[in-house]
Formats: sequence, structure tokens, C-alpha cells
Amino acid sequence: MHGHTSPPSPQFDCAVFATHLDAILDGESDAVTSARAEAHVDACPLCRQLMASALRYKQMMRRVGDHMRASGSLRDTVLATMRGVRGSRTR
Ligand SMILES: [Zn+2]
Repeated sequence: MHGHTSPPSPQFDCAVFATHLDAILDGESDAVTSARAEAHVDACPLCRQLMASALRYKQMMRRVGDHMRASGSLRDTVLATMRGVRGSRTR
């Protein structure tokens, strides 16, 4: 048995970043979380990419919202947009 238990690490890793990403982009996360996310993105190119594409996706969804009023077909528009996002991200 170990007489020493380490406290839960407050480390801001990729999993934590992904959890908070949505709130951060919506401006709903607290200042501490935002600052930590910024620091993480700074050090992690993977999450930088994730955040960039998530941001682009959100902007697109906002634009889709305008289109929906015109077309009236919510599902088709969303599906087409999602397909477009996936298709444009070939690696
Ligand atoms: Zn990361």
C-alpha cells in the first residue's frame, strides 16, 4: 500500500480540451478554462486544428441557419453541410 496518494491532476490535456471546446467557442466557459485551453492549443497542434475546424463548423452552421429559412428543408441542409465538412477535410 502506498501512503501517498497523488491528488487528481488538474492537467488540461486533449480530452479535457475536447470536453470544453464547445463552451469555449460559445464563450460560455469560465476565464480559467479559457486561459488553460488557450495555453493547451498553443502547445498542441492537434487541438489547434480541432478548434479551427470546430470554429469553421460553427460559422457554417450559422450560415446554414439563414439558408434553412429559405429552403425549409432543415435535414437536407444540415446533412449536406456535414458531408461538405467531412469531404473538405481529407488527409
Ligand atoms: Zn491537445
